[in-house]
Amino acid sequence: MKYIVIGAVAGGMTAAMKIRRNDDKAEIIVYDKDTDISYSGCSLAYYISGAIDNRKSIVPRDKQYFKKFNVDVKTAHEVLKVDTQNNKVIVKDLNTGNVFEDGFDKLIIATGAHPVIPQIDGIELEGIFVLRNVKDADRIKEFINTYFPKKALIVGGGYIGLEMAEALKILGMDILIVEKQENILSNLDSDMARLVESYLEEKDVMIKKNTSVLRFEGDKRVKRAILSDGSKIEADFVLLAVGVRPSTQFLEGSGIHLLPNGSIQVDEYMRTNIDGIFAAGDCASVYFKLNGKTIYMPLGSTANKMGRIAGENATGGSMKFSGILATSIFKVFDLTVAQTGYTEKMAQQDGIEYEVGHITKPHITTAYPGAEKMTIKALAELSSRKVIGAQIVGTKGVDKRIDVLATAIFAGLTTDDLFQLDLAYAPPFSSAKDPVHYVGMVMS
Ligand code: FAD
Repeated sequence: MKYIVIGAVAGGMTAAMKIRRNDDKAEIIVYDKDTDISYSGCSLAYYISGAIDNRKSIVPRDKQYFKKFNVDVKTAHEVLKVDTQNNKVIVKDLNTGNVFEDGFDKLIIATGAHPVIPQIDGIELEGIFVLRNVKDADRIKEFINTYFPKKALIVGGGYIGLEMAEALKILGMDILIVEKQENILSNLDSDMARLVESYLEEKDVMIKKNTSVLRFEGDKRVKRAILSDGSKIEADFVLLAVGVRPSTQFLEGSGIHLLPNGSIQVDEYMRTNIDGIFAAGDCASVYFKLNGKTIYMPLGSTANKMGRIAGENATGGSMKFSGILATSIFKVFDLTVAQTGYTEKMAQQDGIEYEVGHITKPHITTAYPGAEKMTIKALAELSSRKVIGAQIVGTKGVDKRIDVLATAIFAGLTTDDLFQLDLAYAPPFSSAKDPVHYVGMVMS
């Protein structure tokens, strides 16, 4: 059996290795147009700031590593087309320019996503960057080390924009974040996003909301941006962080069904509409566990699961994906921001009647040194009392509480159950009544 995988990062390499584990005789070929493979995209801001100083630690494996498992990774090879009638891919070797065909029995598409680049005058000036892969990070590092920019403009107040605000601040830049919406972090409810905004202002990170960039100006290199509020902002470094699009343009006309946003529609088994063709990761759609609807939520955590499921099912398995709760977490300076399940905005869109509970409590008992407050906002469905969503902003212990709440939502627990949870307690770790218990108490 011959398997072709397109894309050699989280989704693709997880799928390839699962195929190998299931079928030691399989021929497995992985094509990637990049030369870095199997890297940690999630670590790029820390590589730029210097918190991770070794490129090798974010790109720990190369194609030689996968050769040991008889997985043939062909880098600098771009798949131009998928011929679903004849089970073939058309591939271009980017080193030689040679274009050739390669046949498959099963195909896994894991081509991920690429940053959206807004069509703004001056966008081509030097000093304007996106951040998606290791080469983007290399380019950013090289520019900073060459020109020592002082004034950074970050376009887009999502988690990548905020992680980079921290990185660039550490590197000595003044930061302005320009956000088109009325709050940064548009995936959060605005009351929780405002907590993050206040914190960033304390850290001297400026934010302009309800504002967009009209054009960039400079001679060769960017010098300033003209904003929709009429202001002129001096900026010698710009990061565009306004979202990503699935990398699926090469599939147009292939017969593989794409959703309006360009993501590949897959079922719970990661199957596309074409027999023998699977998709995984940021190029594909995913189910929101709480309503079964298709959503687009490009995350490494999800890409890994989807890759494993695609690999399992391509080799004859029948593993079903339970769907996601869109659980996510990131940090900016000392603040951690996390969420799982429904926000109020999403619950309203689905017509769900819900109640909201807010608590602000220390992450450990206050008698023990180092206690820090966190704010939890939770949502429960009124009729069933099931917990359906949580958002947390705080400096310590947020990771543990969001994972407990994600598990509670996954398992269909009610607000009464939250109070009853038998969670571990000793003063350095928690309080006798954990913040999760308090959520249960205020909502019961
Ligand atoms: P990708 O990583 O995009 O890989 C796809 C690969 O396919 C690429 O190497 C590309 O070159 C290749 N490719 C595309 N088209 C073709 C083609 N036609 N032919 C051949 N090759 C092709 N997620 C989290 O869960 N937590 C985090 O903390 C987090 N932090 C992040 C921070 C940053 C700065 C960024 C950029 C992302 C972060 N993510 C995070 C998201 C995470 O990195 C992605 O969800 C994950 O990399 C998706 O993996 P993937 O394999 O689906 O796609």
